[in-house]
Amino acid sequence: MQLRRFDVSIVCLACVVCCFTAAGMRAAVAAPCSAGPQAAAAENARTLTSMPITAFHRPETGWAVYETMIAHEIGTECPANTPGFAAALAHWQGANHLGASGTMDDSTFKALKLAWDRRRPWAMISRHQCPDAADEHALVRAGPAESYDGKTILLRTDALAAFRRMADAAQRAGLIPPKSGLFVIFSGYRGVDADAARCAKENNCQSGARATCSAHRTGLALDINLGAAPGFRLDSSADQNRLFLSRTKLYRWMVKNAGRFGFVNYAFEPWHWEFAAASDGRK
Ligand SMILES: [Zn+2]
Repeated sequence: MQLRRFDVSIVCLACVVCCFTAAGMRAAVAAPCSAGPQAAAAENARTLTSMPITAFHRPETGWAVYETMIAHEIGTECPANTPGFAAALAHWQGANHLGASGTMDDSTFKALKLAWDRRRPWAMISRHQCPDAADEHALVRAGPAESYDGKTILLRTDALAAFRRMADAAQRAGLIPPKSGLFVIFSGYRGVDADAARCAKENNCQSGARATCSAHRTGLALDINLGAAPGFRLDSSADQNRLFLSRTKLYRWMVKNAGRFGFVNYAFEPWHWEFAAASDGRK
């Protein structure tokens, strides 16, 4: 028996932290994944690996990389090719003033991305202006056990404290095997000039966005080692690596739980998380 959730945000008005996660505002009711529109399920199974995606900074084929995020957003644990998923998608589409077809389409995907972006202060602000870089001298350094391969990782105090609470929860959930090297930070604050030079050198500027305005300048963005597909770097944006990461237990746990600690994901990069609950309100 799988779960389907319905929005009960009215009863959660006093909740601050949980508002960063869709699941935090929902109650669960049982609904089998076999219940729902069969034709829509078949269409989703087809487009999962074939639909052109243009919502991010480069054209993609299919939405399989985003299945975990989408399922969480629409409140289902059913796989994307099931009638139960299609039913949950139709419910979400209806609630978001879209045609409740239960099938993924361009306008639905863009609406999903907008919902995710709205939880990312940096994403919303940077549409108009690039947020100020952090004061490097006010940042704190992550400990050796929290830093990938001995790197110096600098973060804002509140972001590092929240990361530690989240890492502790992931540890207690049994998702970080001893000596696995998982859940350590491989990039935190990046100085503006150094970041621009590095991405130019690596030809990895994401159409210029990273060179001109990276979230890492704020000291609130973390790249976390959630694993990598065999033969790929931790932050390889190759579709094969992103698909692999999006299906790991650790990423699935993050999608469900990171909001409790104030973190939101940039869905294009499963490893990239931003602390969105800054205690001083600064973004
Ligand atoms: Zn990042």
